[in-house]
Amino acid sequence: MKRSFLLLFCAVLLCNAPVEAQRKAPKSEKVRNVILMIGDGMGLGQTAALMIENNYEPLAFDRAQYTAVCKTYSANNRITDSGASATAMATGCKTANSHVGVLPDGTAVANLTELAQAKGLATGIVVTSHLADATPSGFVAHVSDRHESDRIAEMFAASKVDVLAGGGRQFFNEREDGRDLLQEMQNKGYLYAPTPEDFFAADRLPVIGLFAPKYMERAPRRGDYLVKATEHTLDLLARNKKGFFAMIEGSQIDGACHGNDSQEMIAEMHDFEQAVGRAFDFADAHRGTLVLVVADHETGGLTILSNNRDFTASESGIEYHYSTTSHSGTPVVLYAYGAGAYNFSGVMENTDIFKMIKALLLGK
Ligand SMILES: [Zn+2]
Repeated sequence: MKRSFLLLFCAVLLCNAPVEAQRKAPKSEKVRNVILMIGDGMGLGQTAALMIENNYEPLAFDRAQYTAVCKTYSANNRITDSGASATAMATGCKTANSHVGVLPDGTAVANLTELAQAKGLATGIVVTSHLADATPSGFVAHVSDRHESDRIAEMFAASKVDVLAGGGRQFFNEREDGRDLLQEMQNKGYLYAPTPEDFFAADRLPVIGLFAPKYMERAPRRGDYLVKATEHTLDLLARNKKGFFAMIEGSQIDGACHGNDSQEMIAEMHDFEQAVGRAFDFADAHRGTLVLVVADHETGGLTILSNNRDFTASESGIEYHYSTTSHSGTPVVLYAYGAGAYNFSGVMENTDIFKMIKALLLGK
């Protein structure tokens, strides 16, 4: 009897033994770099789908040291758009859908990029869509209509952000007003990288890489751009001894889920997960780095269903089931890693992400 209990106990211990010891989140390191990674449209269903497709082998998400549940509703809608959600995370203020960087009444509010620059920190924004899209705009621009792309591009051109990378060239140099913002930025000292390869070879700041007239290609056609751009951007920003703030977006998980396209969704999730892993690796190698991985909202209302209602039988396959071609109101998961990660747990507002980053990186 005793022996069988011991065997059972040992078996339980073995079952619970982690494959490799998880690095503990440091509690004494001051936060000097923050990498905010946003999977646009990445709900728990999308992450679970990637886990399934990866046969439950460990993913970067499994390395998270702390997790929180994050509410995403906007000021005027229980279902947020990317503009209002980006504004919440970038400024700490809930606003109306379609707004970026402004309150519902149009009043501009300071964002993390501007606040970090004011403290002398380096800043970077890397996306897989286009720079004037809603999420990156929330960290740079101040407009009531997220679709005013030409105006948003002017704000990017004036932003002095050290690293800018993504699509959207047409908003900079094929504009209705005839201005060539790219030339203007180069005149002010920016290095312009017209291809990802030029960007990866860029060895000075500030740099702007614009790789497509509007949206970049979807994964896997985009290749390993996001992983390499993440690595190169972090290396460039780390040159600033005061620290940095970077927003890196897996932008097109959202588009794949709007299209209810599971193959593209998995490809986009795989691409983003690789970049998350590199950011965690950077935090391992650079003391004082906090990585936060979160979504602005869930897209598609994705659930993972069984093909067979008889659970006494062995599994007969699953179905990725979308309940909408739009966004859903389901809260999202935040994954925290590195210095200060222990501050992120429980149930949070998306505006708390701004408040925490500001307190940890920039002081009260
Ligand atoms: Zn969307």
